[in-house]
Amino acid sequence: MKLTTKILIGLMAGIGIGLVLGGSSQIATTYIAPFGTLFLNLIRMIIVPLVLSSLVVGAASMGDVKKLGRVGGKTILFYLLTTAIAVTIGIVLGNLFKPGAGITLLQDVTVEAKPVPPLVDTLLNIIPSNPLKGLVEANMLQIIAFALFIGIGITSVGEKGRPLLSFFDSLAEVMYKLTSMVMSLAPYGVFALITPVVAQNGPSVLLPLGKVILAVYIGAIIHSIIVYSSLVKFVAKMSPLKFFKGISPAATVAFSTASSAGTLPVTIKSAKENLGVSNSIASFVLPLGATINMDGTALYQGICALFVAQIYGIDLSLAQQVSIVLTATLASIGTAGVPGAGFIMLTMVLTSVGLPLEGSALIAGIDRILDMARTVINVVGDGAVAVAIAATEGELEEVNNKSKKTART
Ligand code: ASP
Repeated sequence: MKLTTKILIGLMAGIGIGLVLGGSSQIATTYIAPFGTLFLNLIRMIIVPLVLSSLVVGAASMGDVKKLGRVGGKTILFYLLTTAIAVTIGIVLGNLFKPGAGITLLQDVTVEAKPVPPLVDTLLNIIPSNPLKGLVEANMLQIIAFALFIGIGITSVGEKGRPLLSFFDSLAEVMYKLTSMVMSLAPYGVFALITPVVAQNGPSVLLPLGKVILAVYIGAIIHSIIVYSSLVKFVAKMSPLKFFKGISPAATVAFSTASSAGTLPVTIKSAKENLGVSNSIASFVLPLGATINMDGTALYQGICALFVAQIYGIDLSLAQQVSIVLTATLASIGTAGVPGAGFIMLTMVLTSVGLPLEGSALIAGIDRILDMARTVINVVGDGAVAVAIAATEGELEEVNNKSKKTART
């Protein structure tokens, strides 16, 4: 049986057993959840060395700094564009669905705003004054910057830089291998992750906010069908069906872990082996995407901002809605690829248009369910952009699904 099928069975079994255990979610959290944490830790263990090594290899294998600049520029452009479209879809759905109409805030809770850090500080902070500290603290933006600098250095040094490149290349290969090994445990890991989520968020928690959940899930489907299908079809001439099938292992892991950083090893593996993205493009575009490209998060923030406005009966002007598009696009860049990060950044979006933060307290209860959908979109979006960039660089290989081969540079 194929691994993807096994993972899906694990997912379904988790949902089924979670529903059965609904009344006594204690069993799920005490006895089943630790296995999910174990699986997540195994994946997390791989992230930092993988991002560092694969980005160094990706940047260095561009061959020259000019190509690196070109591919980098294109990648960021695609990422920003798809994210802005995602928030817009979110806002349109929020206007159409009116998920907050008829709901009144019951709890009297205070939510702390995440202060918007000054732009200069954010930018300055990307360059690590101590790269080892960045690595230890898993500060992904700093790791990306450091890796890009090493990659550029290797390219400029020439012959003498080769041994260092071989070292990182070898480290990346070992990390890919470890990913495969950890992934063979995925069916059990996914089962253990999903069971407690379903047991704790049974139908009683979900129903009152059903419209928000529905809007986020429908938005996710619309965004995938319109934006990603067109991207792979028109830019890469790849059948969308083939794309979604190829990226599905990463999507399944994203759904159950709600972490795009955690899914990164699987995303890289799927893009290379199932979609034919070259090693150099995959190892450059995907780690970047797992950190800065969050279409699902932006879409969710659009819907939630309207939800909060509606429960307070506030009408948002067009200018305010445009401001949501801008802030959510920027906020999603700063969102870490870990569970729940998008919810924290939501407070920033609400503050930007002067909406009461307390409104987000209602969302908190169902956030995990929304997080699973938005993480899938975050990850699938990275994959679609990787395919598009690879195609424009002539680095997309034809993959025969029967005899899978790993694309190499
Ligand atoms: N969990 C999301 C991710 O890892 C981020 C978010 O919370 O929106 O992609």
